[in-house]
Order: sequence, then structure tokens, then C-alpha cells
Amino acid sequence: MEKLANRAVKAIWEMFPEEDVQNSQLEDGDHIYVYRAVGYSHHGIYVGRKDELQYVIHFGKDIPSCAKCGHKENHEVKLVITCLDCFCYERNRPLSTSLYRYRYGAGRLSLPGTCTTLKPKPSKEVVRVAYKLLEEGFGDYDLLFNNCEDFATYCKTGTARSSQATFVANSAALVGGATLAPLSMWFYFSKKKKEKRRG
Ligand SMILES: [Zn+2]
Repeated sequence: MEKLANRAVKAIWEMFPEEDVQNSQLEDGDHIYVYRAVGYSHHGIYVGRKDELQYVIHFGKDIPSCAKCGHKENHEVKLVITCLDCFCYERNRPLSTSLYRYRYGAGRLSLPGTCTTLKPKPSKEVVRVAYKLLEEGFGDYDLLFNNCEDFATYCKTGTARSSQATFVANSAALVGGATLAPLSMWFYFSKKKKEKRRG
């Protein structure tokens, strides 16, 4: 049953285009993400290259110390600046290789965690804000209310917006936390359609 549900979600997921990027195509100020599981992604702001390494500012936790970028293992979730390998790292799983660029100015009917209707700021400003928050903090991490997607969208637009968390919250409210993914997907999309009609 769970396998079937996962397959259904994956099938719906694949109906929507996402912008996958090679490391060499990254531009300063890009909001990027990698998948940690079907439908759950990790987000950060690409802040550029230094001495052959490419750096990302993101909410990190339990990323092992890295000889390449000098990241020291941390056990609390906090904003960190690391190389791309550290950004993609996930415990007990092979390094995720597909990297995606979050889309801005997208249409309203869209996949949670991949894009937003909001318009982005100029890239220099995005990088500046990411570094400023790295120093000052972005509050305590919260999966639903202050997560990695919120941080990245805030850097890009000045508004924290996690479509992923909204989706999860709606799903939880509907099914009492059970993993009825296809049903919650349907709920999410029909809600988005309603919003579109209203707007
Ligand atoms: Zn690293």
C-alpha cells in the first residue's frame, strides 16, 4: 500500500517540470534544492565560488566535518556555509546528485517545494541577505514554520514562503497525520485551483 502510494505521488510529481542544473551552471544568488525523499527537498542559497569550491548557505544539521570546505560537524540545526557536497549530504544515503533551481514568478498551480509566484530580488542583494542572516541568524529552525525553504525564499524576495510546509500542514490537517499521500496531493491541488479561481 505504501509502495503504491509512493508510486502515485511520484507519478504526479513527474507531470510537473523542474529545472535541474549542473554545478557549472549555477549563478550567484540561485535558490537551489536537492531531494531528501520523494516530495521532501532541502533548500539553500548558492553564494558563489572561491578557490575552486562552490558555496551554499543553508540550514544544516549533522553534516560531518568536511576537509574540503572546513565545515565542522554541528548537531543543532543552524545556518551554515558549506560546499555543494555538504549541501547535498544525507546520512546513510548516497550523495544526491540531482540539483534543482527553484523557480520564481511561476504560475499558481505548481508543485510544492519547487517554485513560487513571488518575484526575485537582484542576485547581489540575495547573496548579501544570505550572508547577513548567516551572521545574525534566522530564528530557530522549525520544519513547518521556519524551514530551509522559508530561509531561501526570504533571501530571494523578502518574504518567507514554504509551499512544502503549507502542503504538509494541509495534509496533516486533512488526514490526521496519516500518510495518505495521494489524497493529500489531491487536496493540495484542488485548493490551489480554488485559489486561482478566486484570484
Ligand atoms: Zn564541505
